[in-house]
Amino acid sequence: MQPRILIIYTGGTIGMVQRPDDGSLEPVNFDELSKELPLLKKFGYNISSITFDPVLDSSNIDTGFWLKLAGAVEQNYEKYNGFVILHGTDTMAYTASALSFMFENLDKPVIITGAQLPIGTLRTDGKENLLTAIEIAAAQENGVPIVPEVCIYFDSNLYRGNRTSKIDSQHFFAFDSKNYPVMAKAGVEIDYSREFIYKPANKSIFGVNYQLNCNVVILKIFPGIQQNIVESILNIEGLKGVILESFGSGNVPNFDWFSKLIEKAIKKGIIIVNVSQCAGGKVKMGLYHSSIDIKNLGVISGYDMTTEAAITKLMYLLGQGISNNEVRKYMTQNLKGEITL
Ligand code: ASP
Repeated sequence: MQPRILIIYTGGTIGMVQRPDDGSLEPVNFDELSKELPLLKKFGYNISSITFDPVLDSSNIDTGFWLKLAGAVEQNYEKYNGFVILHGTDTMAYTASALSFMFENLDKPVIITGAQLPIGTLRTDGKENLLTAIEIAAAQENGVPIVPEVCIYFDSNLYRGNRTSKIDSQHFFAFDSKNYPVMAKAGVEIDYSREFIYKPANKSIFGVNYQLNCNVVILKIFPGIQQNIVESILNIEGLKGVILESFGSGNVPNFDWFSKLIEKAIKKGIIIVNVSQCAGGKVKMGLYHSSIDIKNLGVISGYDMTTEAAITKLMYLLGQGISNNEVRKYMTQNLKGEITL
């Protein structure tokens, strides 16, 4: 039987055209987009599509968008062998991370892709990205999908979605995954690194967890950061969790005022997770004296998680109505391949 693939087009540069008034790029619908792709028929797959209304520049997405997107996959889960999501590159890594936590018992490919140049332009990267993403979404071995994960496919590389960050806004090599190997490389053939691809152990029913709590913030440390700024952020009404983007292997200034503010926030029940500003490597609190205080105060290590994975995981866990201790426990466990312990 022909593989059945659903393309969910949400927007992004891949489907944008220039506005006649000011020349800026804005997204168009999938019918316009597919005119550029008569090649799709050559696959011999059964390909359907859904276009989001409105289509979005991904800078405008919010958690409501993730609920809608996850819902579109859930409603169509049984009908298709794989899903391709067309998405703007700017926040693609956040969406990939969020979906990885929201999906329960995923056993089909969900491949997210987009482009740096609109698909209608001559030198577009969008055609290759889309065509290969479709092929990966359809790929099976002995009737089983090869990549039953939420992934980002971009510029010949297939990445685990929740390990990926956007690293370049100018070149086609727009994404990277410093702390987890590439899961497939597309050249003459698509070469899958099977040892790095998740294999679902038991056949449980697919579902979506729609509860997210957005009362979170990312606090990026920099030399010269001021007490009143940190104080204001940690005292935001209703704040439940903080991703603390630290230096190097998890270091922060060990000024007295800084430690005191962190201590006060943790005592109030705010969960603080330490991730590094470095794209590669991991947080090792206590390696340097400059991270001992926050470790002793109860800041949690995010190990080698990306900021995108850490913030969406925190939204997901805080949405589950579990105790703070459980949120802290699961934050440091590997839930969806997002962390190396
Ligand atoms: N601003 C665009 C977006 O994220 C950029 C892109 O798609 O590359 O929707």
